[in-house]
Amino acid sequence: MRTFVYDQPAIRVIFGIGVIDRLPEEMQRLGARRALLLASPGQRPIAEEAARRLGAAAAGVYAEAAVHVPIEIARAVCETAKRLEADCCVAIGGGSTIGLGKAIALQNGANGDSALPIIAVPTTYSGSEMTPIHGVTEGGVKKTGRDRRVLPKVVLYDPALTVSLPRHMSGPSGMNAIAHSVEALYAPDANPIVSLFAAEGIRALARSLPVVVEEPANLEARADALYGAWLSGAALGATSMGLHHKLCHTLGGSFHLPHAGVHTVVLPHATAFNRGAAPDAMRVVAGALGADEAAQGLYDLAVRIGAPVALKEIGMPADALDRAARLATDNPYDNPRPIDYAGIRQLLEDAYHGTRPV
Ligand code: NAD
Repeated sequence: MRTFVYDQPAIRVIFGIGVIDRLPEEMQRLGARRALLLASPGQRPIAEEAARRLGAAAAGVYAEAAVHVPIEIARAVCETAKRLEADCCVAIGGGSTIGLGKAIALQNGANGDSALPIIAVPTTYSGSEMTPIHGVTEGGVKKTGRDRRVLPKVVLYDPALTVSLPRHMSGPSGMNAIAHSVEALYAPDANPIVSLFAAEGIRALARSLPVVVEEPANLEARADALYGAWLSGAALGATSMGLHHKLCHTLGGSFHLPHAGVHTVVLPHATAFNRGAAPDAMRVVAGALGADEAAQGLYDLAVRIGAPVALKEIGMPADALDRAARLATDNPYDNPRPIDYAGIRQLLEDAYHGTRPV
């Protein structure tokens, strides 16, 4: 076995149907008395209900979270937290809401710890709650970084809160999670423990997503998918991502494509690109999917769950492929197969049309 480093910070996780009811006791455990509840506008009712139950322990609700954390919203929420004298924040929602919580947590506390501890209550499969990755968008550019201060202190995974995530969002969100696990398996800092997380994450999502989109209220399948999302988020947080995540970041940021949708479309093609350079990871992915081959298995899963498979379906302009390929090859980064313009341009062509990898 080769030498490796396993350096995963512990996060307390409470998993189960109805665990959002444990918010008051989890706040008490943290010694927190005034929570600012964060949500996207669509999740406001859930945040308000949680605030009602917290009673005096709720400082207020801020339900303005938006995708990619615009700097104006990040500044406004920090002001609100200060004005309301909040001493913790409860982020109920997807990656956008948890990202907003991270923007607050990044402000330095007295002891170098985060200013406001986060309790995360994820309602999508993005996995952000398990990662030290934060990001804010200013002037159309998203700047990301890694900092352990943004890690939640507690995560409450309540599958009942994911039942309302519509089919057309559940499938791509699950594929977004699978992408974290695929890239963790061939990351330069991969290790055997995180690879276990990644393989189990893919397995859980591959078996649950078809049921989730068929029967969105099936709590067992929702729990299985959320479990897979947790493991995949942990895999993302513990490793460095390669071509797939870099490409999605470029496409999403430059052409305003939907975050989970772009991950869904690109994943089979990025996997096919890396196929020959990461054979062990490919075997694990294929095995976890129950498929003969990793890239085709990912494509077939996306088709099966009715998720988009072509960039042209999700708003990518046809005449932007050259520019996208240039942007994606401008800066070098770690990837099993070296990145080259011709290879990425072909990958984008295939992803644009949604052809099944051969
Ligand atoms: P999101 O948080 O933007 O949510 C998308 C939409 O779904 C919103 O309108 C929201 O209100 C709605 N929604 C969320 N949960 C719902 C539910 N249970 N029922 C009904 N509607 C629901 O989407 P996302 O894909 O979770 O997050 C995307 C953002 O997270 C991006 O900015 C991405 O860059 C970031 N992200 C960060 C990390 C990280 O590690 N930092 C990881 C993954 C994603």
